[in-house]
Amino acid sequence: MKTVEHYNFQHKKALIRVDFNVPLNENFEVTDTSRIVAAKPTIIKVLEDGGSAVLMSHLGRPKGQKNPDLSLKHICETVSDIIGVQVKFAEDCVGPAATDAVASLKDGEVLLLENLRFHGAETEGSEEFAEQLSRLGDIYVNDAFGTAHRAHASTTIVARFFPNHKCFGYLLAQEIKAIDKVMQTGQKPVLAILGGAKVSSKITIIENILDKVDHLIIGGGMTYTFIKAQGGQVGGSICEEDKTDLALEILEKAKDKGVQVHLPVDVVAADDFNNQANTQIVDVDKIPEGWQGLDAGPRTLEQFGKVILGSRTILWNGPVGVFEMDNFSKGTIAVGNHVAAATKEGAFSLVGGGDSVAAVKQFGFGDKVSYVSTGGGAMLESLEGKTLPGIAAILHA
Ligand code: AMP
Repeated sequence: MKTVEHYNFQHKKALIRVDFNVPLNENFEVTDTSRIVAAKPTIIKVLEDGGSAVLMSHLGRPKGQKNPDLSLKHICETVSDIIGVQVKFAEDCVGPAATDAVASLKDGEVLLLENLRFHGAETEGSEEFAEQLSRLGDIYVNDAFGTAHRAHASTTIVARFFPNHKCFGYLLAQEIKAIDKVMQTGQKPVLAILGGAKVSSKITIIENILDKVDHLIIGGGMTYTFIKAQGGQVGGSICEEDKTDLALEILEKAKDKGVQVHLPVDVVAADDFNNQANTQIVDVDKIPEGWQGLDAGPRTLEQFGKVILGSRTILWNGPVGVFEMDNFSKGTIAVGNHVAAATKEGAFSLVGGGDSVAAVKQFGFGDKVSYVSTGGGAMLESLEGKTLPGIAAILHA
């Protein structure tokens, strides 16, 4: 796997695809800088080698139209502060504005190009547009995991114009290594904790992951489709009636493959879907009519805890309860605590894909797990076993 480590960037211009799709407030100030901070090591490596960096990114969804609200100019000062170099700005990502700015860029300098998605050609994956981008650097570096599952001009197609001069940035390389650790090279026992709302949105992940793990914890809203399939009473809990056969098939397959599946045994049931609802702890398969399971119960959490602490490699995707509501967040917090404890004992833990990342950040587990992925959709597609086009474009000629 070629990374920026394999290159000396002295007197070279690195064309770096970063993910600066950051949230802005009404005054166009960056409210969460983590994506910029995450891109810093790659940019610094290029500058310390004595090269210059041309940064390209999208921001929001301008859908091919120039939209001043989504200009990357708004983030220029923040990027400058984080990198420690005054970043220059080009009013367009292709054409004279870009080529002129690149031509006058000196070693040690950084140029940020205007929003790629002001051109519809970016998301269309236009080869002509990619060729124009390719003129802006000597070496192409992809450091944007969040868009690696898109075959866009700047994430995938542009790599064709750098057959021998393309590589991963540190961030993207780290993401690939973290996924590999779980899916290929992780120490056993390997555990996947899958939560979230629906079986239907996780089915491809479950099927793919059964070949990789020793233990599978199923939690959250998905639980009830499995419980119903086994003849349990789930009351008014979220349940996909049309997926019960599929749930039984999954359990059967898991058994064939020697994967131990752990489902909740008790739940916090509520008489309404809101934080003020009345609650009671009930067995997962005896939820009364008019009640719905919204979080994992205490016995469940104890059992999950044992499995988590006994694992050496852990993937966590999806909350085990409605963590957005205080009264139903305890299960997800407990799982986070167990994953943190296992990590402290030497396990490798990866949190990735969608709401579990939000939960981990919200409850402060970010630095207590081994790795928190930066890409929602890209992580989910990786877990589904798909080869991401942005990654394939660097790996293959
Ligand atoms: P996902 O995006 O598939 O990971 O789903 C995350 C969502 O699942 C979160 O918004 C949770 O509130 C929701 N969720 C978790 N457990 C339950 C449950 N028991 N009932 C309804 N929604 C749930």
